[in-house]
Amino acid sequence: MTDIHGGVTVHEGYKLLKEKKISSVELTKHYLERIKQVEPKVRAFTTVTDELALKQARKADEEIAAGKAGLLTGVPLAIKDVICTKGVRTTCSSKMLENFIPPYDAMVMEKLNAAGIVMVGKANMDEFAMGSSTENSAFFPTHNPWDLKRVPGGSSGGSAVSVAAGEVVAALGSDTGGSIRQPAGFCSVVGMKPTYGRVSRYGLVAFASSLDQIGPLTQDVTDCALLMNVISGHDKRDSTSVPESVPDYTKSLKTDLKGMRLGIPKEYYVEGMQTGVSDVMKAAHKKLEELGAILEEVSLPHTPYALAVYYIIAPSEASANLARYDGVKYGYSYKGDSMWENMEKTRGNGFGPEVKRRIMLGTYALSAGYYDAWYLKAQKVRTLIRQEFDKVFEKYDALITPTSPTVPFKIGEKTDDPLSMYLSDVCTLPANIAGVPGISIPAGFVDGLPVGMQIIGKHFSEETILKVAYAYEQATDWHKKRAEI
Ligand code: GLN
Repeated sequence: MTDIHGGVTVHEGYKLLKEKKISSVELTKHYLERIKQVEPKVRAFTTVTDELALKQARKADEEIAAGKAGLLTGVPLAIKDVICTKGVRTTCSSKMLENFIPPYDAMVMEKLNAAGIVMVGKANMDEFAMGSSTENSAFFPTHNPWDLKRVPGGSSGGSAVSVAAGEVVAALGSDTGGSIRQPAGFCSVVGMKPTYGRVSRYGLVAFASSLDQIGPLTQDVTDCALLMNVISGHDKRDSTSVPESVPDYTKSLKTDLKGMRLGIPKEYYVEGMQTGVSDVMKAAHKKLEELGAILEEVSLPHTPYALAVYYIIAPSEASANLARYDGVKYGYSYKGDSMWENMEKTRGNGFGPEVKRRIMLGTYALSAGYYDAWYLKAQKVRTLIRQEFDKVFEKYDALITPTSPTVPFKIGEKTDDPLSMYLSDVCTLPANIAGVPGISIPAGFVDGLPVGMQIIGKHFSEETILKVAYAYEQATDWHKKRAEI
C-alpha cells in the first residue's frame, strides 16, 4: 500500500486506486482513522457513517477490479447534514430533525452514489444553514484547524473543516449567502457556489429556495471541476433546475490568462476590511496580472444594499419553508394537551434562537401592511443588483474580490451581536442575490490565518471562473499548505 500520510486529492486517489496501489478499503480506513484522531479537536461531523463507508468501499473495490471504476469510485467524502441521505440521519444540526431519517436521497446523492463514492459522514453546520460560524449548530460548534479557538466559518463549517483537517478527500456544502465560499476561505480550501439552477436542489432541506445552491468543497481547483462534472445537470424534480447541457469542467483548467478582463469592484474592498486581507488581495491582483489578465477597477453601486436585501428575502423564504415543522408530519414533536400547545412547544423547543429570529423577521416582512415596504422593495433592489452584474459582465470576464473582509474570528466573538455576524458575508451575498456563480480559493495567510479570494462570473460561466482559479492556484502554493493538528 502506498503511503498516503497527508491524504490524497480526488485526482490523486483515482490514479492510486486505478493502478491498484491502494484499495478503497485501505483509503477509507485511513480517513476513518484520521477522523478518530482529530475529531475530538475539530468536531466536523454530526454523524460518522463508518460501517456504511466500509461497505461502500468494498463494493468500490469490486468495481475497480472489474474495470468499471469512474473518477469518484471508492473516494471518501463528507456530506453537509442539510442534504438528504436515504437511511442516514439528516439533522440540519437542529433538534427539530435530530432523529430524522430521510426515506430518499437528494439528487446529488443519487449522482454521487452512482459514481461510486464512499460517504464517511454527515458534516456539522449552522442550524438550517443559518449562520456564518457553525456556532449555531444545536449540537456543538466546529473548530478551525488553523487555530482551534477560532470559527471555521459557516454555515458549511463542518464540510470545510473535514477537508482542511484531512478527514475526507472532499465534501459537499450548500450556499445561500456564502455558506460554501466563506468557510472555504476561512479554512483555506476551494469552495464553489454554482449558478442558481446548475445543480438540483431536490433533497436539499430548504432554507431560502431562491438563493440555495449545493456545491463542492475541495483541496484544489481540479477536484472542484471533477465534482462539478458529477453533481451538475437538469433534474425535473427541481423546477428551478436549468435544462442546460453540462460541459466537462476539467477542460477549462488552463494556466494562461492572457487577455482576460478581470474587474475589481471597489464596493467589495469595504471599510472594515482588515489590512492583512487587503495586502493579500493586492498581491493576488499582481499575480493575476503576471498571468496575463487585464485588471481594472469597476463599480457595482448597489452592492451596499445587498446585505439588507438578503436579510429580508432569506428570512421571508425561511419563514415559509420552516412552517412545515409542525410536529405532525416529521421531526421533533411535543405532545401536550391541545393542538396549540403542541405547535408552540414543538417549534419552541425544536428551533434554536437564530432560526426563531429569522422566522420572526420573515413573518414580519411578509405580513399584510409591511409586505410592500419590506419584501417588495427588497425584490426590486434585487433586480437592480442582478442588472448591475449583467452590465459589468458585458465588459469583464470575471470579478475578483476578497471572500471575507476578515480572517476567521474567535469562537464566541460575535455570538451576542447578530448584526456583526451578518456582516461577515458582505462579499458573498450579492452572488446569491443575482444567481451568479462564485468560487473561493486559498490566497494567502495573515499571521497563520487563511484568506480566501473570491472569483465571481456571469450566469453559467463556471468554466471561466474555474480557469482563473486554476491559473492562480498553479502559480501559487497556498493550496498545498495543510493545517497541522
Ligand atoms: N451566513 C448567511 C446566513 O446566515 C448565509 C448562510 C448560507 O449561505 N446558508 O444566512
